[in-house]
Amino acid sequence: MTGDLLIRSVRPWPSGPDVPEVDVLCRGGVIAEVGAGLPAPDGVPVADGGGGVLLPAFVDSHAHLDSTRLGLPFRPHSASAGLAGLVENDRRNWRDAGLSVTERATHTLGSTIAAGATMVRSHAQVDLDSGLERLEGVLAARAEHAARAHVQVVAFPQVGILREKGTAELLDAAMRAGADLVGGLDPAGYDRDPVGHLDVVFGLAEKYQRGVDVHLHDAGSLGAFQLELICERVAALDMRGRVTISHCFALSTVDAERQRELIDLLAEHDVAVTTVAPGAREPLPLRELRWAGVRLGLGQDGIRDYWSPYGNGDMLDRTWQLAYRNGFRKDADVEMCVDIATRGGAAVLDGPGGGLVEGDPAELVVVPGDSVTAAVMDRAPRTLVVHEGRVVAERGVLAE
Ligand SMILES: [Zn+2]
Repeated sequence: MTGDLLIRSVRPWPSGPDVPEVDVLCRGGVIAEVGAGLPAPDGVPVADGGGGVLLPAFVDSHAHLDSTRLGLPFRPHSASAGLAGLVENDRRNWRDAGLSVTERATHTLGSTIAAGATMVRSHAQVDLDSGLERLEGVLAARAEHAARAHVQVVAFPQVGILREKGTAELLDAAMRAGADLVGGLDPAGYDRDPVGHLDVVFGLAEKYQRGVDVHLHDAGSLGAFQLELICERVAALDMRGRVTISHCFALSTVDAERQRELIDLLAEHDVAVTTVAPGAREPLPLRELRWAGVRLGLGQDGIRDYWSPYGNGDMLDRTWQLAYRNGFRKDADVEMCVDIATRGGAAVLDGPGGGLVEGDPAELVVVPGDSVTAAVMDRAPRTLVVHEGRVVAERGVLAE
């Protein structure tokens, strides 16, 4: 039966060196049994976990597969300062990448899967320059890897919605073309009209009954104000559990009392947050968000593109980066980062996966390492990646 698999010799999280190895039997894409020395049922394929650490598969909850140049010759960063400079640099160069958006997105999504992620939410730029070409490229990459990962695509107005007339209509077309979520970008800071911007975003969400994922870089009171506006819309349209704020730098740039208020607001409206382990900004208050019950995921953001030379398709690397940026040393803190990158992301995407016990969907990754924290520090190639109970990558290489 499809989705049947016996994984030999793994140490499920929490897995120190003293935890004995067990086998994991998957049936129909679901974890059916965990135990030592399980017999192999007739006809069920067997995969060797090599004594590695067993984790829920990684979830990249914030990627930009449409802009990636991973696998192409390295190109020095050429943008001038600020968001407008980045937008302009991308527009000037993306058509000359040498490979199509479909080819580049397909390659990078494959790398991401081989490194252990079986769920990805990718933004795809929709603007007057590229029309739906980037969205179609990401949709094609998703189709190419349909048997290996679940992919959600966000119609993302990277250049704002109101600055260039016709963008709102293109976003509408993107939803008809198969985008799963409506995106937004700094409604106040970039488009300078938060009400007008959010009218379009939530209008499309209501029209197509889809979720929302807004990039909100705006910091301090300006960002906090927009967080409140978004929560008001969530309440008015009964969209609890279907809205994500990406980056959400407001949380780390207001005082402690205001931060608590904002986190409570997110929890009350079940608005999720994604972070990308930002290098140049204060890290988000990870513990406070989790204590409040806010769904919190991790993403790669751009993956070696015209926006940034960082990113390599590896969510375990990004997990290391999150731990490093927060100055974490203790196992419990590093493991919290792993939890954000796995279970946390699954909750943000409201997708399968995130668990390791009987009855959980078999979305799994096996990583060599003495313990979970050791695996994050070593970041060895993944022994196995399992999606819907099938091995989709082995020793860092995609399965056919
Ligand atoms: Zn982004």
